[in-house]
Amino acid sequence: MTIFDKILAGEIPADRVYENDDVLAFRDINPQAPVHVLVIPKTRWSSLIGLADADPAAAGRFMAGVAATARELGLEESGYRTVFNTGDDAQQTVRYLHAHILGGRKMNWPPG
Ligand code: 5GP
Repeated sequence: MTIFDKILAGEIPADRVYENDDVLAFRDINPQAPVHVLVIPKTRWSSLIGLADADPAAAGRFMAGVAATARELGLEESGYRTVFNTGDDAQQTVRYLHAHILGGRKMNWPPG
């Protein structure tokens, strides 16, 4: 059980911005850009590899949900960054698969 399970279940509040049958998207509690939204699949996986190995079609629907969220946020024209932190080296803090969508400012490269 992670904090994102509780958000999905409605047990703790979140600023929800998009939802469909496959994904839920909500604003990050500690935003790193003017727009910072997290997208999670409605079934818990700890990583994209796990989901893609088990159910490639579901992985595709998840990515479609990430894209739909970016469009819903109005970022299609301006651009945005999508980040998946996975495991220790990437400093993943919540072990529930999630995409970060960051936008509303120029991003730096390379990331730290
Ligand atoms: P990670 O480091 O695992 O890639 O990202 C986890 C993200 O979840 C962080 O950016 C963090 O700010 C966010 N986060 C952690 N707890 C909560 C919470 O309770 N609500 C929301 N909306 N975001 C959270």
